[in-house]
Amino acid sequence: MCAAARLLAILIFVATGPAVAQEKHLIDPTPPGSLNPEPLPPLQNPDAPSTPAKELFARKPTPFPGLPRSIGGYFDGCLAGAAPLPITGSAWQVMRLSRNRNWGNPQLVRFIERFAENANKVGWNGLLVGDMSQPRGGPMLSDHKSHQIGLDVDIWFTPMPDHVLSREERELGSATDVVAPDQLDVDPEVWAHRHVELIRTAAQDPAVIRILVNAAIKKALCREAGADHTWLFKVRPWYGHAEHFHVQIACPADSPECKPQPAPRPRDGCGHELDFWFKESSLHPPPSKPKPPLTLAGLPPACKQIVKAP
Ligand SMILES: [Zn+2]
Repeated sequence: MCAAARLLAILIFVATGPAVAQEKHLIDPTPPGSLNPEPLPPLQNPDAPSTPAKELFARKPTPFPGLPRSIGGYFDGCLAGAAPLPITGSAWQVMRLSRNRNWGNPQLVRFIERFAENANKVGWNGLLVGDMSQPRGGPMLSDHKSHQIGLDVDIWFTPMPDHVLSREERELGSATDVVAPDQLDVDPEVWAHRHVELIRTAAQDPAVIRILVNAAIKKALCREAGADHTWLFKVRPWYGHAEHFHVQIACPADSPECKPQPAPRPRDGCGHELDFWFKESSLHPPPSKPKPPLTLAGLPPACKQIVKAP
């Protein structure tokens, strides 16, 4: 690692804390899906200790049966007893069905139902729901680092259209990018006060511990929140997150093996705290060296049983 990269890593660590520092949505996490998804080819040597865990979890199309359990950490764990979020709800629709990632701890499903209802009260017609977790959680083939224990969900900034979306619209429709091209602020052409209301509504849900948004969005929230900043500490700036926001809920009380994240500092995070994000090195970070993929040895032992079960 060169000195500049090391400094950047330290700065990121200081600015965000170790737990969030691993979350990287540098790449748009909502590429088009597929209308005819091909099943993945079988692995040559699935029992080799070097097999990336993501290859194993991606090949499990159904949940592990039994009581719901979120096991391990948001970045290194798995999920038993997952519940699916229905693809069309009273005030939400699931996008990118080919990814089969509309699974979560039942507490997450309940949160989304509740959030959709509350968002409706502040003028949001319905939610477009992106990735939750795979049927058994665990690491994913695409760039997501968290979303492993059924307690994370991505919500698009695009309002839900007033009809039931076709399969094609769900796979190929694109999410609205609400950040201006220079990344210094939101795009006034698409950003509206209802976006503030939407994020505030999510942040005020007691189950929610953290929300990740692009720094330009955090800046807009600080400016437009009004007098009440009490909810803003949960909304943290991060790379990407210009088309969707990432919502994380707390470890449920009935998941004793769930590893909680440190809570964000109880400050609104506005003003100079955002300066770091608007430096050239943060707006256009150098590519980071890919880390070796997680193997089953890097996950709690229960995850091996969960991913190996038929
Ligand atoms: Zn996410």
